[in-house]
Amino acid sequence: MSLIQDVIASVQEKDPGQPQFHQAVKEVLTTLEPTVDRHPEFTKAKILERLVIPDRVILFRVPWADDKGEVQVNRGYRVQFSNAIGPYKGGLRLHPSVNLGIIKFLGFEQIFKNALTTLPMGGGKGGSDFDPKGKSDGEVMRFCQSFMMELYRHIGPDTDVPAGDIGVGGREIGYLYGTYKKIVNNNASVLTGKGLEYGGSLIRPEATGYGAVYFAAEMLATRDQEIKGKSAIVSGSGNVAQYTVEKLLDLGGKPITLSDSTGTIVDEEGIDREKLAYVLDLKNVQRGRIKEYADKFKGVTYYDGKSVWEVAKEQGIKVELAFPSATQNEINAELAQALVTNGCICVSEGANMPSDLEAIKIYQDNGLLYGPAKAANAGGVATSGLEMAQNSMRLSWSREDVDKRLHGIMKSIHQSSLEAAEAYGKPGDYLTGANIAGYLKVANAMLAFGVV
Ligand code: NAP
Repeated sequence: MSLIQDVIASVQEKDPGQPQFHQAVKEVLTTLEPTVDRHPEFTKAKILERLVIPDRVILFRVPWADDKGEVQVNRGYRVQFSNAIGPYKGGLRLHPSVNLGIIKFLGFEQIFKNALTTLPMGGGKGGSDFDPKGKSDGEVMRFCQSFMMELYRHIGPDTDVPAGDIGVGGREIGYLYGTYKKIVNNNASVLTGKGLEYGGSLIRPEATGYGAVYFAAEMLATRDQEIKGKSAIVSGSGNVAQYTVEKLLDLGGKPITLSDSTGTIVDEEGIDREKLAYVLDLKNVQRGRIKEYADKFKGVTYYDGKSVWEVAKEQGIKVELAFPSATQNEINAELAQALVTNGCICVSEGANMPSDLEAIKIYQDNGLLYGPAKAANAGGVATSGLEMAQNSMRLSWSREDVDKRLHGIMKSIHQSSLEAAEAYGKPGDYLTGANIAGYLKVANAMLAFGVV
């Protein structure tokens, strides 16, 4: 067996019951094959064997009292995967599906994504199996307070700086940061995604969605194409989906779908700015279901219990651009094949690992422009890095300034992915290029530190 296959096999054997982590390791490591012969120094230093084991895993109990006074207990996680190039950085996910394997997959991917951003950030991820859906503000607050009661001792502005992810938006970051400040009695920039009043950055809420569209625009430009005039399907209706739709509208695209875990809406007329404003209020303030969009606007069809991709396949929806922006493993081979059949030319992943390995193969075999998550959605963490920079300087940059920097970073990620793909014999393969570009930076840093 090759070195790569050996490392994958050892992860499967030593970390049983973590299928999403195995999938992420396989996805990254198989694309690193061309680096093995060219970098015997990495092999000698056992860089790959070291990279698949986190620096540390923190697992803790999160007890809290619900509105009836009953005690509830959740599991909390923080996986500090690699701080080779900077403080651990990565979001916190609150979702009932969260387990150690999911947090490890996200933390592992984050190492390479953060390396691509051009900023000095290591990789980490955390979260809990707490489900914020249907909980009162008071319940969410008490959960966040209990979660931070343990997390605070493991984080710091130069150690580990968490942010949001699924189920963690401005409300949760506020509760988490308020508790942190109360405990440690200082204003260290220890979370990003903060409110503007207390150290947040303009454009951070928009950054992941905007970045995924900027990345798609860069990919399209390599084929003399643009977003303008193209129809797009977007999954999810949370933070990433909302600002993907906004940037698509800015660039003249036509988004026609949104979804949540209960169903999908298809709006053939297109989701315009007025409808998007409704979605932002529905999801961020009312905390309602996407079905209500179909009740509110005429000519919209709601598909109960179906994902965007299932609906696109069953209804034969013609679409040129796809922005998976909900969760992992949304798209399998069958659903990817339907996208190809329906005319899709570009997939830009706002979500983390939304396409499984077979789906990716179908995009690549059919010549689609495929922007993998760690490149296409890196705008979020990159802008978190810009938030950290502003906090360190005790300054705030303007909206235009942050957006310009974000756009520049997305162009740079696109360019370095293309260049690495070319240099390692896989021209146009963004997946290989992004993985190799991120890996080389981290591996060289690890080499510099010796065996630690
Ligand atoms: P969010 O605001 O919580 O929204 C998530 C959306 O996806 C919601 O509409 C949710 O529906 C849906 N969803 C979540 N889990 C689902 C499931 N198992 N099945 C079907 N639908 C599901 O989260 P987000 O921040 O937009 O994150 C979305 C994706 O982007 C995640 O993969 C995340 O890791 C990735 N990402 C986020 C950022 C960021 O800056 N926020 C950065 C990089 C990558 P319900 O409300 O019904 O659950």
